[in-house]
Amino acid sequence: MITTTGLTKVYRSRGRDTAALDGVDLHVREGEVYGVVGRSGAGKSTLIRCVNLLERPTSGTVEVAGEELTSLPGSSLRAARSRIGMVFQHFNLLSARTVQANVELPLEILGVSGKERSRKALELLDLVGLSDRGKAYPAQLSGGQKQRVGIARALAGDPKVLLSDEATSALDPETTRSILQLLRDLNQQLGLTVLLITHEMEVVKAVCDSAALMKDGRIVESGRVTELLATPGSELAHELFPVGGHPSGEGSTVVDVTFHGESATEPVISQLARTYNIDISVLGAALETIGGRQVGRMRIELPGRFEDNVVPIGFLREKGLQVDVAPVGDTPVKEAVK
Ligand code: ADP
Repeated sequence: MITTTGLTKVYRSRGRDTAALDGVDLHVREGEVYGVVGRSGAGKSTLIRCVNLLERPTSGTVEVAGEELTSLPGSSLRAARSRIGMVFQHFNLLSARTVQANVELPLEILGVSGKERSRKALELLDLVGLSDRGKAYPAQLSGGQKQRVGIARALAGDPKVLLSDEATSALDPETTRSILQLLRDLNQQLGLTVLLITHEMEVVKAVCDSAALMKDGRIVESGRVTELLATPGSELAHELFPVGGHPSGEGSTVVDVTFHGESATEPVISQLARTYNIDISVLGAALETIGGRQVGRMRIELPGRFEDNVVPIGFLREKGLQVDVAPVGDTPVKEAVK
């Protein structure tokens, strides 16, 4: 549904070039919620602005819903852009207009008649749970309500794709949850494809089917969240699902064991202890529902170096568990993604 190929964006300011995007190949499937995460300055905003060509990429192509936007002339580009909705961190509502008039704005620009505009705006306000606030002004609404108006406005052109630029970053955790739930509902009810950028792992965990990690203008990891969790050494998986726990001392091997769905780790761990007569310390454990599937992870410590533990690790793998050996000196990094 959204494909970028070899996307680059170089900003030149005061004689210095900054490569905000350095060859980004992104592929978002139809009907999925896709999250791009990364620290501040990684290039996320530039990427999302290049997807609807608010920003012209320096090179590379952008295709949305089968149309190559980068090759469209001005008039066709405006039409194509009206089919891409965008939601902003600070809502970008017009304070002098009522809620309903804010939602009608894109329809006015598209030349839709007054009656039809009004009908559509009321329908959208109902969809986002604000049917009784049409006559209010933005200043009379809470942050979450303002974002609902922003979402209704983004849907005015019946888009197939919704882009969300840190839509929940200005909201408290509870409101964040309700807005994410709304995005999820719209994704399911309308078959809307959602591309969101965020610096919050919780957002990815709550709503994303797929995710990409951006660093220095590049995508360094991407895939379906459930697949990432099953990928040994995945940085995103560790950030999404930290189990914490520090090794107790030198000369031990720290292992992260991941299990999906039915299989349970605990009996296997006690079997391991009995079979090899070793003391196993559990450093941390967590169970989460990600993308509707239950995933558990346990960080355990085995006595002895890695070479001494090849057989026990093989035993865990044979039992069908995913086993990642933490590098020596590895300490879990909390909130590494900002
Ligand atoms: P993020 O959204 O991940 O925080 P941005 O896309 O905003 O990252 O920025 C990526 C890089 O591009 C940063 O180094 C930033 O300073 C630079 N940058 C972004 N916009 C501009 C601009 N208009 N002019 C010059 N440099 C910019």
